[in-house]
Amino acid sequence: KDGFVTALWEINPGWASGVGYHKYDSILSIYDANEEKRQLDFVNAQLDSLKQFNVEDLSDNNKTDFQMIKNQLESTIFSIKEMKSSEWNPSEYNVCGAFAEILNGNYDSLEVRLRAFNKKMNAVPAYYETAKKNIKNPTVEHTELAIAQNLGGSSVFDADLKAALEKSKLSAAEKKEMLDKAQVSIKAIKDYAAWLKALPNKTPRSFRLGSALYAKKFNFDIQSSYTPDEIYKIAVDHKKDLHDKMFVLADKLWAKYKGKDPKPADKLDLIKQVIDKISLQHTTPEKFQSEIEKQIPELTAYVKAKDLLYIDPSKPLVVRKEPAYMAGVAGASISAPGPYDKNGNTYYNVGSMSGWTAENAESYLREYNDYILQILNIHEAVPGHYTQLVYSNQSPSIIKSILGNGAMVEGWAVYAEKMMLESGYKNSDEMWLMYYKWNLRATCNTILDISVHTKNMSKEAALDLLTKEAFQQQAEADGKWKRVTLSQVQLCSYFTGYTEIYNLREELKKKEGDKFNLKKFHEKFLSFGSAPVKYIKELMLSEE
Ligand code: ZN
Ligand code: ZN
Repeated sequence: KDGFVTALWEINPGWASGVGYHKYDSILSIYDANEEKRQLDFVNAQLDSLKQFNVEDLSDNNKTDFQMIKNQLESTIFSIKEMKSSEWNPSEYNVCGAFAEILNGNYDSLEVRLRAFNKKMNAVPAYYETAKKNIKNPTVEHTELAIAQNLGGSSVFDADLKAALEKSKLSAAEKKEMLDKAQVSIKAIKDYAAWLKALPNKTPRSFRLGSALYAKKFNFDIQSSYTPDEIYKIAVDHKKDLHDKMFVLADKLWAKYKGKDPKPADKLDLIKQVIDKISLQHTTPEKFQSEIEKQIPELTAYVKAKDLLYIDPSKPLVVRKEPAYMAGVAGASISAPGPYDKNGNTYYNVGSMSGWTAENAESYLREYNDYILQILNIHEAVPGHYTQLVYSNQSPSIIKSILGNGAMVEGWAVYAEKMMLESGYKNSDEMWLMYYKWNLRATCNTILDISVHTKNMSKEAALDLLTKEAFQQQAEADGKWKRVTLSQVQLCSYFTGYTEIYNLREELKKKEGDKFNLKKFHEKFLSFGSAPVKYIKELMLSEE
């Protein structure tokens, strides 16, 4: 495992920096034919060394590490030989995030970090020149994203770098050298964006992945015990079940919110009208971030009081405005320090509504109303992603820390929402109705992703599903459509992981009877780190 990880970082310097291994910060990999060969040689050599192990002889922990390493290596071959997204996804080429992380990190002195920044800038022009050579038939959607994110992120070479240089003890000559190189970097970024804008691209590739590639990517990314077809059927049934539960609640709440208005005959219409009324209770664009900041300690106190799981108080969460280079895909996210960066900050990135029309901001705020905003905070922060990541970094397995399984991570956050409500958090009919609506989102994410990428679902049908059946506001639905055109499989991770975790808990409850302890279950489950749920399940059941 040590040999694998050491070699992995040597060959993937950008990934290494991202998880807090800073030895190669000054290196920017250029993805040309040599680099591709280097990657494949590495993968084949590692797959060969895995052959010396007999999986049956390994400890339970090593068995799962073995599977995760093997999956990672085979997934790299799949990416290079079949996915080939380096040819059609221009947004894969963006240096801004890596440079911003060097400036934002607190793992070393500012001067050391700036010198790595300086050296890394040498490769920026060649990096973008190679990108232009690699790109063959990009999708329209990824081309637009690449232009927006590269231009948006380039401020790291401008205002952000200038501010850092002013604070630093570098000599005047070094500062000047860096500012000059930064101008060259900005030019390379702007040239790349201009090149993309001017690209003829008469037959752009469709953003739809197609069934064959999709099934393979699903296997590598989710590592679920379900196939896409199976989870699709479960999600469709679950949607119906949620609609039934929501109708009971909305019918009960009708008089409170709609007075003597006649009830519509259509069940979904009745649910929607009640949800729309409740959604009017929301904060303002100005207070959006401070409202989130206020809720984190409340959630932590609740988890403690209810004895749901231990939360390490020495790793506080920092709420910040979403950095420019992240803008464009999601509205709220967590950035956590990796396994080597145990003292780094964990950030809660909050998308800002500055520059939005009043109408768009209102629509967004109705979606993230006073009820849903709390569920969002449970999901992103406590006891969702932030809490899980603190546990993951304490996991004894470096493999599980670095090859984290997205479906386990998202599944945990979605599980946390339901678990908090089951424990009585802010218990009310309104809270449950809004929770079901939120859960409908994860459920419909799965239906949407599989339908769009493998069943040719139209934009119109997709927006219908999201607004009529999942009761989303127009802005949310538009954002989700954009996201499904830019990513594949990832939207399934929430519902698939959640379904597997919830079913595991119910299975253990049945087995252990009176001895079942919720806090112990949570802490044990998280102690395995971000492994695929199917492997955690094997370990927990075998211990049983
Ligand atoms: Zn309003
Ligand atoms: Zn999440």
